[in-house]
Amino acid sequence: MAKYTGADCRLCRREGVKLFLKGERCLSGKCAMEKRPTPPGQHGDARKKASSYAVQLREKQKCKRIYGLCEKQFKGYFDKAETMRGVSGENMLILLERRLDNVVFRLGLASSRAQARQFVCHGLISVNGKRVDIPSYLIKKGDVVSVKENKADKKCFAAIKEGKALGLPKWLEFDNATLTGKVLELPERADVEQKIEEHLIVELYSK
Ligand code: SF4
Repeated sequence: MAKYTGADCRLCRREGVKLFLKGERCLSGKCAMEKRPTPPGQHGDARKKASSYAVQLREKQKCKRIYGLCEKQFKGYFDKAETMRGVSGENMLILLERRLDNVVFRLGLASSRAQARQFVCHGLISVNGKRVDIPSYLIKKGDVVSVKENKADKKCFAAIKEGKALGLPKWLEFDNATLTGKVLELPERADVEQKIEEHLIVELYSK
């Protein structure tokens, strides 16, 4: 599937919820969901009764877009989750939460998952002291995720160094001064920040 290159805010309007794809803008009055929360397009305002398939599809698209994945990558997580012990939907969300780009975002090193992915791809992030430039890298308990020493002086990290770690999930710890985070535990289902009804995604893929 080709990479989506359209406006991020259209995706939020399509899903009818804030997906927080644009960092600080999402928290400001400029957010498109604050100004025009209707679906995009000429007939966006027209309400249609959604079929059960449409509800399942929208939930899958929403989850996929939150984590910034294409269909093939997303389905890969579902397939992997199905081979694991436990509930497939929960396993899938936990795998998504464990992605390195998500961890960089949850540590507060980036204002969005897209920016976090860019930091990882550009070699700004190391795991256990080694550069890792793969956004899908799955972190493990005890991993230390940090900004590479020679990149820590970048302007984008200046405010983080001076601030305090806010809204950090309980499975992560973060030291602002050294721009270093630690994975205390693997995330659990309850640690997923956004409201996702994963059973709908399982139903969709199980058809
Ligand atoms: Fe979505 Fe609002 Fe952020 Fe745009 S600004 S990506 S509409 S949450």
